[in-house]
Amino acid sequence: MSEPAADIIGIDLGTTNSVAAYCDESGPRVLTHEGAGPLIPSVVRYEAGPRGEVRVQVGEGAKAGATDAPRQTVSSVKRLMGRSLSDVGADLAYLSYGVVAGERGTCRVLVPLEDGRELILSPEEVSARVLETVRAVAAGALGREVKRAVVTVPAYFDDAQRQATRTAGRLAGIEVVRIVPEPTAAALAYGLGLERAAGRNAGESVVAVYDLGGGTFDVSILRLTPSPDPGEPYYFEVLATSGDTRLGGDDIDHLLMELFRTEIGAKVGAGEGLELPPQTRRQLGALAEGVKIRLSEHEEAPVRIDLGGGAVYERTITRAELEAMIEPLVLRTLAACDAALRDAAAKHSGLAVSAVVMVGGSTRIPLVRRRVGEHFGLEPYTALNPDLVVALGASVQASILSGARRGALLLDVIPLSLGIETVGGAVAKIIPRNAMVPATATEMFSTSVDGQTSIRLSVYQGEREMAQDCRKLGEFTLRGLPPMPAGVPQVQVKFMVDANGVLSVSAVERRSGKRASLQVVPNHGLTHDEVERIERESLKHAREDMARHRVVDLVANGRLDLKWIEDGLRRVGGLLEPDYLAQMRSAADTLRTLTDRAHADWRSVNPDTLHEAKETLDRLSVRMHEIAIAQSLKGSQTDAGA
Ligand code: ADP
Ligand code: MG
Repeated sequence: MSEPAADIIGIDLGTTNSVAAYCDESGPRVLTHEGAGPLIPSVVRYEAGPRGEVRVQVGEGAKAGATDAPRQTVSSVKRLMGRSLSDVGADLAYLSYGVVAGERGTCRVLVPLEDGRELILSPEEVSARVLETVRAVAAGALGREVKRAVVTVPAYFDDAQRQATRTAGRLAGIEVVRIVPEPTAAALAYGLGLERAAGRNAGESVVAVYDLGGGTFDVSILRLTPSPDPGEPYYFEVLATSGDTRLGGDDIDHLLMELFRTEIGAKVGAGEGLELPPQTRRQLGALAEGVKIRLSEHEEAPVRIDLGGGAVYERTITRAELEAMIEPLVLRTLAACDAALRDAAAKHSGLAVSAVVMVGGSTRIPLVRRRVGEHFGLEPYTALNPDLVVALGASVQASILSGARRGALLLDVIPLSLGIETVGGAVAKIIPRNAMVPATATEMFSTSVDGQTSIRLSVYQGEREMAQDCRKLGEFTLRGLPPMPAGVPQVQVKFMVDANGVLSVSAVERRSGKRASLQVVPNHGLTHDEVERIERESLKHAREDMARHRVVDLVANGRLDLKWIEDGLRRVGGLLEPDYLAQMRSAADTLRTLTDRAHADWRSVNPDTLHEAKETLDRLSVRMHEIAIAQSLKGSQTDAGA
């Protein structure tokens, strides 16, 4: 463990939100304290206090009050950092507060206080207020003072913009030990470029970082070259950047707002020109964002607005509708990707992108993920929260600089088995521990209930047999399956751990072609000590765990058998000899009693007895199945003959 004196945190100083993170030997984590964080709005509100002092509020509180005091609330100050008034001309229209010229053409924020005074502030001063708050959240979370930080900036920030960021840090009492480009931080969060620290020999690689946030889109092409410095195993170079400072999630919200406005206009007979008061516009904006976010998870979003006077605007927006609306925006981002790739190719012959990292809240949109994946021909990295990945990476860089990274866990082999929860709470291991990365494995599963139209898949890591004793990495749902009897759907589950340790789990139902997937980073939050402890515990519990896993599987399979046999008896029971029927019923009763008992308490049943009961019933039921099949063949012949 590092000494507190060596503590360096990572800070993503964002246009919309800022985030603090810290990385120790168990890996990077974001910091929160007393309800603040991980996302701290980069918004500062200035007010005159009762004794003539200037009060400053930062974060959620400042953001909440922004609509009441637009001229006293400074947001997006990052757009002004280190730039001259003429540089920012086009941005001014989007800012609610005043911007004036300072010395040598620099810009200053002009805040008129309620008592008639005017504050003239440099962007660095405003940004320092945000950093002070981030620093306080970090100190609260860590329980000690924080004095040093790695701070991220967009890859395209020039020297003046980087210098301004350093100055903001100094004003906030923070020594900025390194300025790191945001895409580099995002790549580091995924452990890209840390292979050599793990003792693995990897060569040069090229990574694309796609960052679609609220107001801006950036794409960067990075080259990672092994460096001779053991302290910093890789040299990151930004080969090219492209993007659009006026393209992001806000534009999607606007498209939806426009749709609502025109449809409401038509409904109330105001036509195209419906004018909305500011309050209504804001509400509509919040509604639009909510609909957009819902459609990232669900296929449909209901909308209902009471227009007053008994009129109601009501409709459902489908994901397909939203996708059709935003496709042109997504295509613009892909054109920017091509531009960046062209520039990068000019500097690097034979350029081949080996990973695509997704950053920014808007990359949660499934269409964005799909199109980016198709465009690069690679499954994009989405395992880490796209809002937090830059801060996480900054903290990884911080831990490298403070020397704390040495003990960190890096994947070379998979330290703990990876699997999926099956009926009854057991874990089916799909990739065993100590498998070399990259690793791939596939397994077939089915359903346990008739007519299931969705299947929830939970991914676990650990050596114990039961899910409750393992570490849950995440879950996802395969939806939209046509109803089929239990056991009929064929769900192929594929686990793939790539060279960087990112696990992609995908599930496909083969009859319907429906698919779903999940990405996670399994080594996050685990230390070597923990891996060893988990291993020791699994040995301690091995015998008992195996028995329990066996019972749970036997119960699940036994119940499926019982269900089939009941179906069979219902159809052809009348055709069976009374003796045979009695034998069947008795064997089924025995198995049912045992499975029910085992289900209530797995220890109450001897697994061998349970196994025996299931085998007996299976053997007996062969004859009934034969009769049932003969019967259904006869049935189909009569049908054909009729
Ligand atoms: P910035 O980099 O501009 O600070 P962020 O990376 O925080 O922005 O992204 C904010 C944007 O992400 C907003 O437009 C927000 O609506 C959008 N967003 C957040 N979550 C989702 C989601 N689940 N689906 C679609 N958009 C989302
Ligand atoms: Mg961002």
